[in-house]
Amino acid sequence: MALIVRIDVDRPYGKQGWARHVASRVSSDYYLPRMEWLRYLSELKTILGILNANGRSAYVFFRKCSYPSAEVRELMAAGKHQFGLHLENSRSEEMFREELEALERELGFRVTAFSKHGSGRRRWGRYHFAPYEPERYLPWARQAGLKFFFGNQEDPRLGPVEGGGLVYFPSAFWLEPQWRDTTKFPINWLLREAAERDVVMLLHADNVTSNPEILREFRMVVERLESVILPVAAEAAAGMTAVG
Ligand SMILES: [Zn+2]
Repeated sequence: MALIVRIDVDRPYGKQGWARHVASRVSSDYYLPRMEWLRYLSELKTILGILNANGRSAYVFFRKCSYPSAEVRELMAAGKHQFGLHLENSRSEEMFREELEALERELGFRVTAFSKHGSGRRRWGRYHFAPYEPERYLPWARQAGLKFFFGNQEDPRLGPVEGGGLVYFPSAFWLEPQWRDTTKFPINWLLREAAERDVVMLLHADNVTSNPEILREFRMVVERLESVILPVAAEAAAGMTAVG
């Protein structure tokens, strides 16, 4: 029983510092060439480094504006992390397929998991379709051969639901306290629960590295709890390669 680490990569340049903040915003809406000099995905690299040092593996979900660089891919391989889609334009099944296939083309292999950008409260940029409608994504995802969907509800007591070859985790323990009832679900709750069953812990790398208290809690959690990468059923895996 362990931690399922979920990282949503929202901002390619984080949000600290004017130039990086602006670059994050602009690249979310328009094509911008990757700027290593603005420390592309630097916060994600820090988080992957900590996970790798502790032998923990994560699911990492990428948007079009935050596709992994060669350096990030190396860290991902070293830590046996899983790549997934951070779904942005969920307006229709066609849009969903387009985003999934674009990521798979970029990576050169199929992915098994996805998560959704935003919880329906706000629109985050030009391509973002704000409504959060998990029940619509499930049939699309099954049709596309995906195996895991990580949802955005904020009650970490909700366990996974399985159906049609897809496992749906409706909720997560949000590491950043602004999306968590910290009275009901303090860090100690996570330490206790993840020792008993698999619990999804969601984080955004730049929110963690920019806050010393959250970073301290993140380090403590990954030192103390094992992580798990969920197995894909054998027949499902065979089906996937056939499609590929
Ligand atoms: Zn997001």
